[in-house]
Amino acid sequence: MTTITRFAPSPTGRLHVGNIRTALHNWMLARKAGGTFMLRIDDTDAERSEERYVDRIRADLGWLGIAPDGEERQSERMALYEDAFERLKAAGRVYPAYETQQELELKRKIQLGRGLPPIYDRAALALTDEERAAKEAEGVAPHWRFKLDHDAIIDWEDGIRGPQKFEPASLSDPVIRRADGSWLYMLPSAVDDIDMGVTDVLRGEDHVSNTAVQIQIFNALHDVGLDDNDCPLHDSFPHFAHEALLVGKEGKLSKRLGSLGCDAFRERGIEPEAIIAMLARLGTSLPVEPIADRATLLDTFDLSTFGRAPAKFDDAELERVNAAIVHQMDYDTVADRLPDGMDAAAWHAIRPNLSHVNEAGQWWQLVTGPITQPDFSDEDRTYLAQAAEALEWGEDPWHMLTGKLKETTGRKGKALFLPLRQALTGMDHGPDMGELLPLIGEQEARARLASA
Ligand code: GLU
Repeated sequence: MTTITRFAPSPTGRLHVGNIRTALHNWMLARKAGGTFMLRIDDTDAERSEERYVDRIRADLGWLGIAPDGEERQSERMALYEDAFERLKAAGRVYPAYETQQELELKRKIQLGRGLPPIYDRAALALTDEERAAKEAEGVAPHWRFKLDHDAIIDWEDGIRGPQKFEPASLSDPVIRRADGSWLYMLPSAVDDIDMGVTDVLRGEDHVSNTAVQIQIFNALHDVGLDDNDCPLHDSFPHFAHEALLVGKEGKLSKRLGSLGCDAFRERGIEPEAIIAMLARLGTSLPVEPIADRATLLDTFDLSTFGRAPAKFDDAELERVNAAIVHQMDYDTVADRLPDGMDAAAWHAIRPNLSHVNEAGQWWQLVTGPITQPDFSDEDRTYLAQAAEALEWGEDPWHMLTGKLKETTGRKGKALFLPLRQALTGMDHGPDMGELLPLIGEQEARARLASA
């Protein structure tokens, strides 16, 4: 059976780092198994869904290099949900309910006040036909609940959490459709997972109790013959795995993380590969390492390494991973982001000094000039004049120059190197001078030494 995973964002906002992590892990699960990774746009909520967010989701996944193999939109699949709903209704697995929000709120308060769990009391199920007719005559449109089977214990083997068990009577019959006919998340998602042949559902642990309910929905849908065609999931449901949530370094769910997305990363100069390397392993027993090669990350990707403790996202760690990834990047992959004239040799010289690719320009300026030299002592000025004389151009001008000066002046260490670096670049530190000097060029180098 081919592995099929899906990432199912609601287009009501931008993707944040938590969503990105879920998308990545679903992508990895599919890629590793040679399967298919689908994007499912959960846009049943017409009021809150926006087209610009759909576009941004696609663009963000593209930038991250985890583009899906296919896309479905719930807003275009309404007929499927309608059909499933009618079947469940005919089988007595959904029922109309007429309580208002306020009434439900009050019931919950009373239950909590009595120390009882706030589970829906199924009052709507007890209504007689006459009572229902009276409600409708008053113009009250019903919302619809899925009727859980209280006799069927819910259990599954979770890919991360291990064996899970739920007593259905401890759960409320979920509302699956609003009074205005619109869908809530619960039923469409299960219908789609069956219809799209999704084999593995990997999502955040905030969905665990949804999974309990959806397992009964899957079973009910099978019972009403929804998958009569050759659906790979015939008579069963996907493998479920729920990953621990992503929290800030301080161990809490933070507002900042909830809005930290691709734009912010890009603006900060974070490479997609750094985000991928970090999120691939955060919350697992494997170390976060600056691995730019996806095949390596895929090789080691394994749900059994995922822990139950919240995964801690630390910006400083991301910065470290990013710098290490930048240091590995080939000229070809960054060429179009570099200043004009900066070639492969220049990239190679400058790369080890960068935390972000967009700092390359500042270092390249040391080559192209103009530079600002510090004030030198008389002694250093004499030394630098000697250096201008001694400069010879060849294979490796820097080592020829420093070798010669060491002999003729007796200087060594910092006294030998630092004034030269300062005169040639205006800086106390920076790229390897052996690589930098040929880029500066003979004439310019001589002029800089002479003008010190
Ligand atoms: N649209 C749902 C969400 O964003 C999808 C959950 C799921 O993966 O089933 O939470």
